[in-house]
Amino acid sequence: MKIVVMIKQVPDAEEIFIDPVKFTLNRSQARGIINPSDENALEAALRIKEAVGGEITIISMGPPQAENAIIECMGRGADRGILITDRVFAAADTYATSLTLAAAIKKLGEFDLIFAGESTTDSGTGHVGPGVAEFLGIDQVTYTINTKIEGEMLIGERELEDGIEVVSARPPLLVTVMINANIPRHSSLRKKVDAIRKGIEKWDHDTLSLPPDWVGLKGSPTLVGALKIPEERKRASKIIKLEEIPDLVNELVKNGVISTGGD
Ligand SMILES: Cc1cc2nc3c(=O)[nH]c(=O)nc-3n(C[C@H](O)[C@H](O)[C@H](O)COP(=O)(O)OP(=O)(O)OC[C@H]3O[C@@H](n4cnc5c(N)ncnc54)[C@H](O)[C@@H]3O)c2cc1C
Repeated sequence: MKIVVMIKQVPDAEEIFIDPVKFTLNRSQARGIINPSDENALEAALRIKEAVGGEITIISMGPPQAENAIIECMGRGADRGILITDRVFAAADTYATSLTLAAAIKKLGEFDLIFAGESTTDSGTGHVGPGVAEFLGIDQVTYTINTKIEGEMLIGERELEDGIEVVSARPPLLVTVMINANIPRHSSLRKKVDAIRKGIEKWDHDTLSLPPDWVGLKGSPTLVGALKIPEERKRASKIIKLEEIPDLVNELVKNGVISTGGD
């Protein structure tokens, strides 16, 4: 089974600071980590590889330091790593990102499954997985919490608001994975050393040969019209003494906040 896992390196949310003057996010001090649900996507792919055999290729589009995230994935069991990196790809919106990743996957040749996280912790649109599937013209199984291969089919459990849907779909497919799908494994030191020795492949604009106005900022139709800081909601608190509880309950019932439950 040929499996591709798309991962994005994101800044660790706990290390991002808000500039108190400009109200912009300052990511310069933040450590780069694998986007959390991409770790779940990799874990789902590794479990399928262990069950039916195959090869896992990691693909990431980002700056040169995203290499560390790819090495970490190879330390967990992925076989090959490709970093798509070029200044021309910078400032891509989700459309241009999906188009570029789809072109890279096409260049890889045949594949059975592409795994992606449900969304990222920095932009968090959830567009890129489905976007890649659309550009490649393949089916997608989104929001999965469990996946397995039975015969020629992928069986995916999808977490919906009101239950779990079980679907069966024929590869080639793109699968997005929820953050609660599994517990990602740690990397092994030996595999990480092997990955560093093996190295990762770096693909640039020349490798993909896409028209320059299809990628990066030029290829991005998203326009940010304005940014607004939401008004802070004021909350009041009051300490209630034990003997005041009946009055409080009466007030909450009167205001329709709670009901007594009877007819
Ligand atoms: C309104 C808006 C304006 C923006 N403007 C800019 C801008 O001016 N400059 C700029 O640099 N960025 C900008 N971005 C961010 C940029 O569009 C995203 O970082 C990028 O397209 C990925 O989208 P996402 O983080 O929402 O991924 P999602 O769609 O949430 O990601 C879903 C999954 O897709 C995969 N994936 C996502 N991105 C990658 C990747 N790079 N490589 C491999 N796999 C990936 C991962 O598996 C991930 O879990 C903007 C975003 C928005 C919403």
